[in-house]
Amino acid sequence: KLHNIIQDLKGNIRVYCRVRPVSSSEASDSAHDSEMSLDFPAAGDLLGRGLTVTVNGNLSGQAPQKHSFAFDRVFSPGTTQDMVFDELSELVQSALDGHKVCIFAYGQTGSGKTFTMLGSREQPGVIPRAMQQIFTSGQKLAAQDWQFNMQASMLEIYNEEIRDLLSRRKDDSKKHQVTHDSNGLTTVSDLTLVDVNRPEAVDQLLAQAMDKRAVGCTALNEQSSRSHMVFSMRIEGHNTSTDAKVCGVLNLIDLAGSERVKESGAIGQRLKEAQAINKSLSALGDVIMALANKQEHVPFRNSKLTYLLQPSLGGDSKTLMFLNVAPTREFGHESLCSLRFGSKVN
Ligand code: ADP
Ligand code: MG
Repeated sequence: KLHNIIQDLKGNIRVYCRVRPVSSSEASDSAHDSEMSLDFPAAGDLLGRGLTVTVNGNLSGQAPQKHSFAFDRVFSPGTTQDMVFDELSELVQSALDGHKVCIFAYGQTGSGKTFTMLGSREQPGVIPRAMQQIFTSGQKLAAQDWQFNMQASMLEIYNEEIRDLLSRRKDDSKKHQVTHDSNGLTTVSDLTLVDVNRPEAVDQLLAQAMDKRAVGCTALNEQSSRSHMVFSMRIEGHNTSTDAKVCGVLNLIDLAGSERVKESGAIGQRLKEAQAINKSLSALGDVIMALANKQEHVPFRNSKLTYLLQPSLGGDSKTLMFLNVAPTREFGHESLCSLRFGSKVN
């Protein structure tokens, strides 16, 4: 099948596009959506691969422009958290088998990244579902003499510096250094690691995560939109009868908003932030493209994020990128930018 051949060529990188629903406040705005429309795969084909965006002509009488994209999956606004997770549970499972996995959410602020990765109590997203699955599968494998030890950490990269999101100290002023060992395992100095071998530990961790990365009320200047959040889980398995050992890593990343912050108008702190975000997101795109094209030199060292994730991006690791897209005209330009970014790396 052609699809499989394409998958082989580009290695282990997949791109899923998810379009969020129109919110109630957007729906009541009459200016909504006369200039842009999104065409999804036919109803009933939620797992289709194509997406066509039509940008209608402007006042000077230009013809509508159609832009067609193809991804590994396109999720239309009606897709539930459950349906989305179904399409990646296999990837999550492979972390238990000793693979290194990265799942990213890319998109402008307000496009649904945090909803996808964390979600809410009522509609949990990828992170809580992944933890639940790993936990349950680990318990099942105990019947085959597997014992697992799981540790989680949660950090934020802001202005190219790492902050520990699980630190109990109010002010985390420590400089966190990243080192990789020869087994491809990463250590971040002074980073809080939490044992997640009991369900209660998982609940507590998630409450902390939600607290730090609240979904909704996304004023464009909100802190969470200017930093990358990296949730990591290291899963060490040991088979007590065969003495086999595996060590998998699952990285779940809620990226900073992809909207190009204008560097020209910004000054001081704002300028620094804008430059850091623009730089790290384009560095991520460059790395994924280099990996997809099997280039010899992969520029991991161009940003803190790509350097941190290096062992989980290269080699035989697996990567999934969500492109989160808002459906409204207001965000049309940014949506097109995200879709173009995604088709470059796909
Ligand atoms: P981001 O993290 O990209 O800035 P959010 O995840 O905070 O965006 O989403 C913005 C708003 O849209 C939130 O109020 C969120 O609850 C809502 N939202 C996003 N995606 C969905 C979805 N698939 N279904 C329902 N509501 C969504
Ligand atoms: Mg967010």
